[in-house]
Amino acid sequence: MKGSSEPSVLVVEDETALATLLRYNLEREGYRVFEAKDGEEALLVADETKPDLIILDWMLPQLSGIEVCRRMRTRGHLRNTPIIMLTARGEETDRIRGLDTGADDYIVKPFSMTELLARIRAVMRRVRPSLVEDVVQVGEIAMDRGTHRVKRGGRDIHLGPTEYRLLDQLMQHPGRVFSREQLLDTVWGSDIYVEARTVDVHVGRLRKALNEPGERDPIRTVRSAGYSFDETFASNVPMPSSGDQDAAMAGRS
Ligand code: CA
Repeated sequence: MKGSSEPSVLVVEDETALATLLRYNLEREGYRVFEAKDGEEALLVADETKPDLIILDWMLPQLSGIEVCRRMRTRGHLRNTPIIMLTARGEETDRIRGLDTGADDYIVKPFSMTELLARIRAVMRRVRPSLVEDVVQVGEIAMDRGTHRVKRGGRDIHLGPTEYRLLDQLMQHPGRVFSREQLLDTVWGSDIYVEARTVDVHVGRLRKALNEPGERDPIRTVRSAGYSFDETFASNVPMPSSGDQDAAMAGRS
């Protein structure tokens, strides 16, 4: 199934020995690994595989890593993909240039594999908590990917397998808009023929299961584009503790 929860990493590195070492260590950590040997290939493979994170070498033949990074940031679906740059350059100005171009982190060669793996986990946790943690919580909705249980507040939400995978996909990338075709591809699998309208039917079922009357709908319909999990859902949920605090303050004055 394509919508598997295994996070994927694209390694862009022209030194074969290092690429192999990275693949070995990443696979051992449970990542699916894609490889590219130069900048052009990196852009193609990234378009095709939509990795969850990219490890990008600065010194590449033809297109430099920095140029690849810049181009990736102009492509809609790669705009938010975390990028960790690898480089032999340790200059502060280079570091800043890398981060300015849109890299999320930067590691200087030679580096320890343990450190790189820790940086990857840190970036993943920051950008896509759902990929490294079993329990994903956005606002009052919690999804336990170990037990496949979903809760909203204290309430159990019962979802069919398709609705579960839909919610999983949307919650993995809060704010990102998925077209119906993208959802068909990731949730149903590209080898199955399903009409795009089927997505609407299952989103409808998902909403019905998630939302009780008067509750805020976390799924956004983006007209002529698709669906997304509302990234403001977490912040706009009233926190009972702050409410209590307000009441206490009001009582005091
Ligand atoms: Ca290189």
